[in-house]
Amino acid sequence: MGSSSSCYAPRTIYLDVNGRMQKVLFSRHCNSCDIKELLCSSSNIPRNTAITLVGPEGAMVSIDPTMPANSPNSLYKVVPLSTAQPGDKEDLVENVLSQVAEQFSRAFQIKELKTEVINRLAVLEKRVELEGLKVVEIEKCKNDLRKLQDEMSTKHGGRVNCPCKSTLLDDGRKVTPRRDVPSYPKYTLSQETIDALKKPTFDVWHWEHNEMLSCLEYMYHDLGLVKEFNMNPITLKRWLLAIQENYRNNPFHNFRHCFCVSQMMYGMIHLCNLQEKLTLTNLGILMTAAVCHDLDHPGYNNTYQINARTELAVRYNDISPLENHHCAVAFQILSLPECNIFANVDPEAFKKIRQGIITLILATDMARHGEILETFKLNVDHFDFTNEEHVASLKTVMIKCCDISNEVRPAEVAEPWVDCLLEEYFMQSDREKSEGLPVAPFMDRDKVTKPTAQIGFIKFVLIPMFETVMKLFPQIEEIMVQPLRDSRDHYEELKQLEDAISEESPFMIKLKKDFEKTRMKPQ
Ligand code: 5GP
Ligand code: MN
Repeated sequence: MGSSSSCYAPRTIYLDVNGRMQKVLFSRHCNSCDIKELLCSSSNIPRNTAITLVGPEGAMVSIDPTMPANSPNSLYKVVPLSTAQPGDKEDLVENVLSQVAEQFSRAFQIKELKTEVINRLAVLEKRVELEGLKVVEIEKCKNDLRKLQDEMSTKHGGRVNCPCKSTLLDDGRKVTPRRDVPSYPKYTLSQETIDALKKPTFDVWHWEHNEMLSCLEYMYHDLGLVKEFNMNPITLKRWLLAIQENYRNNPFHNFRHCFCVSQMMYGMIHLCNLQEKLTLTNLGILMTAAVCHDLDHPGYNNTYQINARTELAVRYNDISPLENHHCAVAFQILSLPECNIFANVDPEAFKKIRQGIITLILATDMARHGEILETFKLNVDHFDFTNEEHVASLKTVMIKCCDISNEVRPAEVAEPWVDCLLEEYFMQSDREKSEGLPVAPFMDRDKVTKPTAQIGFIKFVLIPMFETVMKLFPQIEEIMVQPLRDSRDHYEELKQLEDAISEESPFMIKLKKDFEKTRMKPQ
C-alpha cells in the first residue's frame, strides 16, 4: 500500500521566507515552470521573476520535479535574479559583488560581537566590585577574549563560535565548551513571547538557536531555579551554550527537539500548577533532565546500536546505550567548573539532583514505556504528593510525555516533526539495508507513510499515556489531550484518502476501467 500510494503523494519542500519557514507542496506532475511559479508565490515574489534556489550551505538547488527534498532543518531560500536578465558577465559581477557584501556584513557582525563581549566583560567587572565574584573568573574571561580576538584576526572570517567541537564522542574526546562570556544577547523577550512560552501552542519553528537559548535561560530564572541553586548567571549561559553545541544536526534529534521537550516541560509545570505541588529541587531535576535528555544523539536508535555492535552498545552492554550516553555527556558538561550550574549546591543536594536526572533521562528509553506507565497507573487513583515514590513515578511519566509531545502541538507546528522523524528513520533503514542488518517496518521507506506512522503512535502510545496523566490533572484534557484526538482523526482521514487513491483500491480499479472504456469508444 505504502509504495503504491507514495507515487501520488505530493512532494514537500521547506523554504526560508524572511526568516519564517514556509512549506510548499507540489504534485509530481508539476513541471519546472509550475514549481518556479509556486516558489515565487510562496516567497511573495512576482510569479514570473527569474529565481534560483539556494540550499543551507549556499549550494544551488535544481528546480524540477525530481529536485532533492529537504527538511525543516535545512531550509531552501528563493533568490530572485535581476529582472533585466543579465548576461553571463553581469551575472559574474553580481555574484562577486554579493560575496564582497557578505564578507563586509560578516566582518561587521564580528565587530559587533567583539563589542558585545567587551561590554559584557565591563558589566562583569562591575559586578565583581558589587557582588564579590571571583576575580580569577574575570581574568580567565579576559584571556579567552584575547585568544578569541587573535583567532578572529588570523582566521579570515573565522567562526566566533567555539572552534573546538565539544562532544564526548565514541573516541573519548572531551567535552570542552567555550570559556568566553557567551555572546548571545541577554534575554529581551517580549511580554507576548513570555506568555506564549508557557503554552503548548508555542511556535517552536519560529526561533533561531540563540533565541531558544534565551528562552531556556528565561525559564530557569522564571522558575526560581537560578535563585534556589545559587547559580552564577554567566555559568547558566555557558552551560546552555555547551548543551546546544553537544546536540548534533540530526533531522529529528537536534537542539530544536531538546528545546521542544524543555518548553513542553515548562508549559506542563505551569498548566498543572507544579510550582505549588513539587519542590524546587524536583522542578530543577525535571527541567535539567529535559534539556539534557538527548545530548549527542547520533541519529540512529538503540536497535541499530545493538545490532551494529557500535562502541556505545559495547560500552553499555546493550542496556539503553543511547540514554546512558546522553546522561554521561550531561554530567561531563556539568563536571566542567565553568559550566557547572550546580557548583554552589552542597554535595548531598547535588547527589540527589544527579540521581534524579539520571533516573529521568534513562526513563526516556521507549523500550521501557509499558513498565513506566504501569507503575504510574498504580499510584494515580490515590496520588499523594508527599509520597516520594508517587512523585518519582509522576516525574518519569512527565519527562516521557514531554519527550513525545509533538502531536500535542497545533497541526502546523507538529506536522513538520513527522517529516523530520521519517527522514531520520529512513537514514537508519537505508543504512541497515546496506549493512545487512534487520530493518524495522516502521522505519522502512517502502512501508511507512505519515498517516501510518502517526495513527498507531497517537492511539496506542500518546492518548493512553496523556489520558492517565489527565486523571491527576484534568486541566490537560482541553489543552493537551484534545489536540491528540484531533490529530488522530486528521491522520485517519488522510489514511482513508491514501487508501482510496492506492492503485489496488476498488475505486481506482473502477476509475481505470471506465477510463479505458471511454478511450476504446469509437468517436
Ligand atoms: P527520543 O528518542 O526522542 O528520546 O524518544 C522518543 C521516541 O519516540 C523517538 O525516537 C521516536 O521513535 C518516537 N516518537 C516520538 N515522537 C513520535 C511521533 O510523533 N511519531 C512516532 N511515530 N514516533 C514518535
Ligand atoms: Mn527525545
